[in-house]
Amino acid sequence: MRAGKLQRVRGMRAHAMSMTRGAMRARVSAMNWMEFEPLKKAGWLRHCFTTRRFMESCDPEKRGRRDMAQLLSKELCAPPQAVVWGEQVHGRGVAVVGHSRETYREIPAVDALICAETGVCLVAFGADCPLVYIADPAHRVIALIHSGRRGCEGRVVTAGINEMTRSFMTEPAECVAVISPSIGPCCYPVDLWASLDRELKDAGVGSVENQRSCTACHERLYYSYRRERGTHGRMLAGFMIVS
Ligand SMILES: [Zn+2]
Repeated sequence: MRAGKLQRVRGMRAHAMSMTRGAMRARVSAMNWMEFEPLKKAGWLRHCFTTRRFMESCDPEKRGRRDMAQLLSKELCAPPQAVVWGEQVHGRGVAVVGHSRETYREIPAVDALICAETGVCLVAFGADCPLVYIADPAHRVIALIHSGRRGCEGRVVTAGINEMTRSFMTEPAECVAVISPSIGPCCYPVDLWASLDRELKDAGVGSVENQRSCTACHERLYYSYRRERGTHGRMLAGFMIVS
C-alpha cells in the first residue's frame, strides 16, 4: 500500500480508488462496501467487505454481532436468518456449516467457516485482523477465515483448507483466495500480509490476491483496533454461494 494514495470515499456512488494493483480493482458500492475482482467475476458467488461507514450508518443499539451479521446478510440478499458467524477466539477452530445445522447463530470457538450450500451467508468481523476469503470453483465450496497474529501463528488458514480438502475434496491449486484490507507492516511489527501470502502459497492455493490496504493508515475507510485503541467498530466480510 502506498500510504496517502487512497482517495476519500465520497457519497454513495462507486469510486475507483488509487491503491495497489489488487485493491485498485476494488470498488466502494452504494452501501459502502467493497468487492474484490477475483470473487466478483466468479458468477456463483456473492461477497462484500464493509467500510466503516456501513457500521456508522446503523443504529448504535443495533451494533451487536447478531444485528450486524443480519444487516450484512440482507445486503447480500441472503434468505432470512441464513447467516452464520464464528465466535472468533484467535484460535484455529474450523466449522463446516449449512442450512440445516447452523444458520442464524454464532459458532463457538471457531475462526474459520466453510460452506458448500447455496444461500448461507458467512460473516466475519475485523478491525485490523485479515479476513481471508477462499473459493473452490470446482466443488463450489467457500471458506471465510479470521486470521490475525495468533491465527497466523496457529495457521488457521491451513486448517481451513485442510478441512475443505477432507470434507469436499478441494484441490488447493484450483482455489482463489483474497486477503482483505487489514493492518500492514507499516503500522504493526508483525507482517501479517507476508505471513498469509506465504501460508497460502505453502498450502498450494493457485491464486492469491492480497489487497495490501492498511486499516490503520486509512482512517476514513476503516476502523483500526490499534489506531483507535480498542474501538468497538468493525468491518464485516460477507461471503455466500448463490448458484
Ligand atoms: Zn499502515
